[in-house]
Amino acid sequence: MVRGLFVGRFQPLHLGHVMAIEWALSGGGVDELVIVIGSAQESHTLRNPFTAGERVEMLLRGLREHGIGRDRVLIVPVQDIAMNFVWVRYLEMLLPRFEVVFTRNPLVERLFSEYGYRVVGQPLFSRESYSATRIRELMISGDESWRSLVPSSVAEFIEEIKGVERLRRLASRD
Ligand code: NAD
Repeated sequence: MVRGLFVGRFQPLHLGHVMAIEWALSGGGVDELVIVIGSAQESHTLRNPFTAGERVEMLLRGLREHGIGRDRVLIVPVQDIAMNFVWVRYLEMLLPRFEVVFTRNPLVERLFSEYGYRVVGQPLFSRESYSATRIRELMISGDESWRSLVPSSVAEFIEEIKGVERLRRLASRD
């Protein structure tokens, strides 16, 4: 049994994240994936508009929609810590054991490599479209095309929690 790790902020979860997770569980050759929701303490900012709980909900709904079973993933929200050097040890304390790390984030890649982990860069899936930064920009500008870039269950959830309204309010001036 090989267990992998995938770290993200998922602000919001988009189809690029889902494809990366699908890839790790197929081409990446792991049986199980621990999905860490990073920056769990963050919410209600332009870069991190959604709470950790809301991001758990997005993952539960989005992965179910794409047929990724709960028996293959473990979702764990994790707060950031001030010391990058010990972040990997901190994750080792909080998580079950994992053998391989999937990431394209250069800092995450570097920190795990320094601790001797095997780090695999998943392929890029339409990065120019499937980008959380771009999705947040589309939401702020009132462009509805963001909906096609996230799982439809996630678009519905964001609507339920009035997520776009929140983001646009955060982007407005006082
Ligand atoms: P993210 O949601 O932006 O990305 C998550 C992963 O998805 C990354 O590997 C990214 O490359 C990948 N991805 C995104 N779009 C893709 C696409 N279209 N195709 C393929 N892959 C795609 O999250 P992030 O910002 O990388 O998350 C890293 C987290 O780790 C943050 O929360 C950060 O704070 C945390 N962190 C914390 C510490 C600390 O606490 N000291 C240190 C390092 C990292």
